[in-house]
Amino acid sequence: MTEPLISVRDLTVRFDTYAGVVHALNGISFDIYPGEIFGLVGETGCGKSVTGLSLLRLVPPPGEICGGRILFHGQDLLTKNEAEMRDIRGGRIAMIFQDPSAALNPVFTIGEQIELIIRQHHPVSREQARRRAVETLHAVGMPEPERILTTYPHQLSGGMQQRAMIAMALSSGAELLIADEPTTALDVTIQAQILDLLTHLKQTQGIAILLITHDLGVVAETCDRVAVLYAGLIVETGPTASVFQAIKHPYTQGLLAAIPRPGSHGQQLQSIPGTVPSGLNPLPGCPFHPRCGFAMDVCRQHRPDLLPTDQAHWVACHLYSDSPLPNLGEGVGVRAT
Ligand code: SF4
Repeated sequence: MTEPLISVRDLTVRFDTYAGVVHALNGISFDIYPGEIFGLVGETGCGKSVTGLSLLRLVPPPGEICGGRILFHGQDLLTKNEAEMRDIRGGRIAMIFQDPSAALNPVFTIGEQIELIIRQHHPVSREQARRRAVETLHAVGMPEPERILTTYPHQLSGGMQQRAMIAMALSSGAELLIADEPTTALDVTIQAQILDLLTHLKQTQGIAILLITHDLGVVAETCDRVAVLYAGLIVETGPTASVFQAIKHPYTQGLLAAIPRPGSHGQQLQSIPGTVPSGLNPLPGCPFHPRCGFAMDVCRQHRPDLLPTDQAHWVACHLYSDSPLPNLGEGVGVRAT
């Protein structure tokens, strides 16, 4: 059995703000295996980006990782010193963001930036770094990689900038790529190209990818496994195929109903009424209960555990606490507006 590349256990993150303590992550656990794309999906404010930043120990102040373990190759990243973490960041674990133009340095060429990363993490000559930069630009589908080396970020389109960011991750030899909404700022055709590229790199280079997205459609097309995050908790997780075959959690149902479908032109999309709770005052019971059309008394008092409904598909919802499992039918498990 393959060992996980990274195992997150009971990860807890808080932000100590003037308004009070914000509970951003409330003890989440998941594994990512080599050569898979693991999707983390949920609405804005549910804790997705904080999870990505936590894996690199880059949660900005006043945020703090206050519990749990992040085991990378079995070693807890939370016990590493800063020098060791600098080596891991951008070297063995890389991150790309929604807006690549903000992550690229505008005063250096793409070639200079990629070569710098290669030389930071590998003892190679300038010429070797340049050759490797050309190879990685080619691997991410950049036309004329030699010419791209001499361009500045502003001379590239958003899609090409994102490819350059992915090239940087590859050139350093990253084993895990954290991709935080990497296609949200791109137009639809380019989005599809970048998602195809991530799938291609997973297959050809064996890189593992944590794909953070608000879009369940992106997950369906791209991810091998998925975890649905709500209010800093994983509420449903499993292999993408089995989750989509039988979505169980009312929140995941709501996310699915919000995806535009082919042929649904003119039909109103369903949105989930209400908003993700702020995390300042965690609700008792299931955090989704104020928005859930299936909420029962027990939901308002007791938080449901994440439990298996079959071998690999887990869900945190009182509807599934007892067998036989209830049939939710065709409806969407959110409160009517
Ligand atoms: Fe939460 Fe209850 Fe709704 Fe399940 S049925 S999502 S436990 S409120």
